[in-house]
Amino acid sequence: LDYRAISESIVYKSHNAFNRKAAVPVGAIQSVARLYTEQKEVSATLNAKRNAQSAVSERIRRSADATEKEASLGEAKALKKEVTDLEAKLAQLADQLLTLALAIPNDTHPSSPLGPESSAVVLSTHGPAPIPASPSRDHVSVGRALKLIDFEAGATVTGSSWYYLLNEGALMEMALMNYALSVAMKHGYSFVTTPDVVRSDIAQRCGFQPRDQSADPPVSQMYHITNHATPSSHHNQPELVLSGTAEVPLAGLFVNKVLPPKSLPLKVVGLGRSFRAEAGARGADTRGLYRVHQFTKLELFAVAEEQQSEEVMEQMRNIQVEIYGGLGFPFRVVDMPTEELGASAYRKYDMEVWMPGRGRWGEISSTSNCTDYQARRLHIRYRRSLSPTTSTPSSLPPTSPYHSVNLPFAHTLNGTAAAIPRLIVALIENGARFDDSGNVVGLDLPSILKQFWVGEN
Ligand code: AMP
Repeated sequence: LDYRAISESIVYKSHNAFNRKAAVPVGAIQSVARLYTEQKEVSATLNAKRNAQSAVSERIRRSADATEKEASLGEAKALKKEVTDLEAKLAQLADQLLTLALAIPNDTHPSSPLGPESSAVVLSTHGPAPIPASPSRDHVSVGRALKLIDFEAGATVTGSSWYYLLNEGALMEMALMNYALSVAMKHGYSFVTTPDVVRSDIAQRCGFQPRDQSADPPVSQMYHITNHATPSSHHNQPELVLSGTAEVPLAGLFVNKVLPPKSLPLKVVGLGRSFRAEAGARGADTRGLYRVHQFTKLELFAVAEEQQSEEVMEQMRNIQVEIYGGLGFPFRVVDMPTEELGASAYRKYDMEVWMPGRGRWGEISSTSNCTDYQARRLHIRYRRSLSPTTSTPSSLPPTSPYHSVNLPFAHTLNGTAAAIPRLIVALIENGARFDDSGNVVGLDLPSILKQFWVGEN
């Protein structure tokens, strides 16, 4: 992590953490600056002591005089102890610095609105005019009547907020996936299927805390897998979680990579199941398919050079507008305010669709430019086009200026191409067809989906 940048912008970082309501321990940012100064001092002292060690060794080697040699040996012993102590001190400082700095959120785009969710700014609106809100369009009742969703079976087999998609409901999932995938691939995203189980440290490096320590007792938004290790190997096994989003395994695809010059932006679209414990989530949002524990999601992910990332974000937004625009419902793009950015996003656009049964706009997608926040934690670098193509001198430490100049950290971006349940909510609530007595008789689906439909329709 860039301790120097943190130390040089304590005021900005403190305001930023406050504006984002980030759980940064009081005084953490100042402590980073103080410990960083101490680290440099200790490091300089250590170097001086090591030089002194070499000089003394040389003296011992050359010394012919027994008394002089004896004195030098004593000096060498004392120096050895000092060096060991300083090394331990440095390791301790490195640990403290890392723990504190990991809690500091990403910087924020100057245009992001300040404040809570209600401060979100609508950037653009798309599609037809919203139809009037009507409880008869509620996706739960329509979904039941048309035999598209079975919540009861989901509750029996797993628990509440688990569900089955049936008949056209299940076929809609397949058609939506293939439709969104076809648009993403047309725009240069290559298709990847991902592991849904990931190491918790990879999730953490992406900005997802496996446990919310600010809650009492700490709650987890992730499902943890506890028995994957055999008892004898238990201590060597990383903790595993069910991924909350394919963003995590997609970012993980690039861990520890140095990407070749001119290879960026790299664009992948990943299909995964997302698992959300949704601990503590309550209220109307938990009704039906809106907030569930498992869903299928197609996710756009890009690795870009620093100066490309804002443009890549706009391209992602255009792809999403194309996907959701093709589905024929009213939707809008909103610039998310500081308190909604989480740890990793520098800027975030959400898309919201009109859901007449719910009588409100509902978020269907989220797009984030994480700048170098994830790449620093996952060690994703690229080689600058102008830098020599010869391999990096291996003797240089990762903190060497050589790396920051020639092998900068990449920027990572992610955006939802299709998160199935809420798309189905929107399609059902906007597309339900009623007879003259108000009974639901069918569903008008966007014609584009027919091209991706499996079987008779
Ligand atoms: P997020 O990764 O939380 O930004 O979510 C990305 C998209 O996934 C959202 O815009 C929703 O469409 C969808 N989503 C998130 N959480 C849930 C959930 N618990 N149930 C259903 N869909 C969800």
